[in-house]
This record gives sequence, C-alpha cells and structure tokens, in this order.
Amino acid sequence: MLAHDLEVPDDSVSEEDFPKEVNRFEKALLDTRHQISKIRAEVAAKLGEDEARIFDAHLLVIEDKALIDETIREMEEGGINIGHAFDTVSNRYIDAFSRIDDEYLRERATDIRDVSRRVLQNLMGVASHGIPKMAEPRVLVCHDITPSETAGLDAEKVQAIVTDVGSRTSHAVIMARSILVPAVVGLRDFSKHIRGSDWILVDGYDGLVVVNPSEATMARYGKIQREKKSLDERIMSVASLPPVMLDGREITLRANIEGADNLERVQQSGASGVGLFRTEYLFLNGPGFPGEEEQFQAYAKVAKACAPEPVVIRTLDFGADKVERSSVYFNEEANPFIGFRAIRFCLEYTDVFKDQLRAILRASHYGNVRIMYPMISGCEELLKANAILEEVKEELRGRDIPFSADIEVGSMIEVPGAAMMADALARHCSFFSIGTNDLIQCLLAIDRLNDRIAHLYEPAHPAVLRIIRNVVEAGRKAGVKVSVCGEMAGDPIYVPLLLGLGVDELSVSPSSIPVVRYLIRNVSYREMQALAEEACGLDDLRRIFELAEAFYRERVLEAGV
Ligand code: PEP
Ligand code: MG
Repeated sequence: MLAHDLEVPDDSVSEEDFPKEVNRFEKALLDTRHQISKIRAEVAAKLGEDEARIFDAHLLVIEDKALIDETIREMEEGGINIGHAFDTVSNRYIDAFSRIDDEYLRERATDIRDVSRRVLQNLMGVASHGIPKMAEPRVLVCHDITPSETAGLDAEKVQAIVTDVGSRTSHAVIMARSILVPAVVGLRDFSKHIRGSDWILVDGYDGLVVVNPSEATMARYGKIQREKKSLDERIMSVASLPPVMLDGREITLRANIEGADNLERVQQSGASGVGLFRTEYLFLNGPGFPGEEEQFQAYAKVAKACAPEPVVIRTLDFGADKVERSSVYFNEEANPFIGFRAIRFCLEYTDVFKDQLRAILRASHYGNVRIMYPMISGCEELLKANAILEEVKEELRGRDIPFSADIEVGSMIEVPGAAMMADALARHCSFFSIGTNDLIQCLLAIDRLNDRIAHLYEPAHPAVLRIIRNVVEAGRKAGVKVSVCGEMAGDPIYVPLLLGLGVDELSVSPSSIPVVRYLIRNVSYREMQALAEEACGLDDLRRIFELAEAFYRERVLEAGV
C-alpha cells in the first residue's frame, strides 16, 4: 500500500541558517531533476516519447518559480526548516488543485504529490519507497499511485492496479494502459477495506472490482477471458489484410494523432494515413505558440512519413479540456465547450490561423495533405475560412513557395447546425468528418466535463443515429466522402451501426485500428445496413444499445469460441 508516509521534521531554524537551508533545497531540487530525467529516458526507451512526456510536467513542477519562492518565504516567515516549509507549500498546491472543478486539472495534484515526495525524500536523505517488489503476481491495491511509480512497475508481476483516487484521464492510468496493466481507479476508500488475504477480480473493460468472487463469477469471467483471448488472436490474424467487408465494400481506416511523434504506431497499425491530426497539441507544450516554421516541420514530417496516403490536418481547436481559460487569448467562460474555440478562434485571431495555413500549405508539397476545419456551424464560417485560405495561397504564389494547389479541404461535422446544413456545406468542401465527441455533447446537451450527467452521454441515442444518417445522405448526394473521427468510431459496439449507416471512412486511435479492421472484415455491408435500419426504427436508446451490444457479443466476441 502506498501512502504519503514520510515524517517531515518540523524543527525550527534560525535566520543565519536560512542560506544553508536554501542550498539544501536547491540540491534536493537538482537531485530530483536528475532522477526524473532518468525515469523519463527509461520510459522513452521502453514506451515511447509520448508516454515519456508525462515527466515533462514533473520537471515543470520543480522549475515552478512560484512554488520555490513561496517555500523560501514560508521558511523565512515561520522560521521552520526548508523541508517543512516545502511540505506545507506543496500541500497547499495539492489541496488547491484537488478542489478544482475540472477533472484534468484535478489530476495535476497527483503530479505535484509525486514530485514533492521525491523532493522531500532527497531533502531528508531517505531512499525512495516506491512499490514493494512483488515475488508473485498480484493485484496492486493502493490509495494512489504516481506516474513514476506506475512506470517503475514490473508488468509481469502486477496483474492489475486498483486505487482509491484518480480518474480515466490521470497520467498514472495512461501509463498503466501503455504497459498493458488493467487499472480501475477512483474507488473512494476501497483500499481501507481490503486485506492482503483477499482475492480480487479486476474487470478493466467495465471498471469493476469483485472482492472474493464466487465460483459462478469466476466461471463467468473465465469465459470472458477465453473470449477476449480468442478475439485477440483472431484480430492479429488479419492485422495485415485490407479493411474490406464480406460483400466487397472497402472502408478506409485512418489514424488519429496528436503530434508528429506517434508515427511508428500509425505505421504499425496499418492505417491508411492520418484521418485526424489534432494540431492544438503542438501549441500546448511550450510557453508560447509555435511559429510557422516549427509547425511546418511537424506537418511535413507526418506528410512525408504517410505519403502517398493522406494526412488530414485539422486546424487549431483549443477545446475546453485542452487549454486553461485564462491567458492572452482566452477568458474564463461559463460554457467553454460551446465557447471560444476552434474555427471561432481562428476567424478572430487570423494571424495565428494564417501562420498555421501557411505551414500546412508548405507541408502539402511533401506529401498528400488535406485541411480540415473544426466546429463549423454553417456555410458562413466555411466560406470565411476558405477565403482566408485563398489569401494565404495567393501570398505563397507571390513568393514562389511550392504547395499543392488543389489541396482538399474538409469540414468537421460536430455542431448539430452543420449536420442540418450538410447538403449546403458539401458545395464548399470536398469531405466531411463527423466528430461524434462534440456532436453528441451538443446534440444531447451533455457537458462532457459534468460528471452528474456523464451517464447521459449516449452514442446509442436515436437522435445520434438519425443525425449521422442525415450527414451520410447529404454527402452521398453531393459526392462528398464521409468519415467519422470521434471516439464512437473506435468502439467495436458502435462500429457496425456506423458501417450500416454508410460512412466511407473511420479514423480512430492507432490502438483501435486492429479491432475495427477485424470487425469490418467479418461483416457484410448488407447485414450492417439491416442492423442500422432496425436501430433507426427504435425510439429507445437502451434497445438500440442492446441491439448493438448483442451483435458485437454474438458475431464478434463469441464467434470464435
Ligand atoms: C470530436 O469532437 O469527435 C473530435 C474528433 O474532436 P475533439 O475530440 O478533438 O474535440
Ligand atoms: Mg471535436
């Protein structure tokens, strides 16, 4: 079990010892920096650059001037030793972050806790406790686990992780997913009620933990485990085959990426290029926005790696959960998900938009690049964005800078208004990509960050099926291809419905490509059309879900057992 089990001494220090204490503090910060950099390098080698980036956030904590200055002030004002001062100040930060009404920011408390524990251990000369080494395979139950502790786990021995705190977006969970260890988190005070002799069954798929399961439960889960293993084997056996349905309809399968570093995963997944490049992540790493050149390098790198397959570069979308709403560009907003973001931002900050369009156009010379605008709500925005694009093209022509003159431009369909206007939008762009994450949120009026109503966020809602059908029909009439790039496209329960509704392309995270490919190859378009038809005839979302789930269970999960 993990706990913040360091006894930090509260000895007082006199003024003449302050400089000595500051020196000790600086040394502890430096040692911590070395340790984190070492873990970062190990994680980068083991899991890749993306996962390693978690530790950049930790390095930022120890470089935080406010935290350091406040600690020194706390020592000077209270006459307490630097360790005690640092413990007090970091706990204040942890407390403040834990109370923020935003799941992502709340999770940052864990980053600070992780780093501050290291700093204190270094200050006190205590060796890192970490997780005790396990001799036998075990489920790890603890109050909380930090990303660096997760990274250091022996994935052979730790069968699953169960914690009292945390959420699906916490870095420790992301890390656990990368090392393929199931994790169920946020179980309040679960760890207090568990004894070392208990047997625990962890169902990472449904987020369930069963303590001392009955024989019947064990038998049921034994069957599920056999089904999953058989499905994994079947999925891998078609990993290099094209995503063609049994009656010959081919679906284009592309990958969603967040940066220019995920490219091996895209290539290994066998995706036909990138269907959604969420470019805003390039803007979230540094203190300022990257300029045209830095963006060009990233876009050209992806374009070259994927050529001749396309890369759909989505212009900036600082969604509510991606950026702090108090900076030069953003104010606090009551409803940031339907606020100042995406194309609305770009049409106001046209300089930022033009820099990005210039970078994308320049990269188009090095591969098959397409442009896509997010959160389009109607023709006006699409026409304005296209007009700015034409201006930028003209400017590049004037400077003899090469680019692909007939670069394809697409519109995301993620605002219900755009879905209703799809026939008109189709006259001004050459492809659609349905962003179900935002579309469902806006269509059903469910704020994604509000956990009181999270259970109402429902891809199986009949209105969702109808609106997708509307977009597909409009696209087909106009000869505009329709893709789906939201999370719904990577969920094997909903993929059959999307196929039946007639979408042409799916763009999903690289890890979901194999299962989606398998599914496509094992169904016929005709039967998917019948399934979607039946689902669209139902008014009740539960019945739609049951229909889709039963199909997945019978035709996919249990098919090979
Ligand atoms: C979507 O809304 O479905 C989408 C793909 O965009 P994002 O998740 O980046 O908002
Ligand atoms: Mg979106």
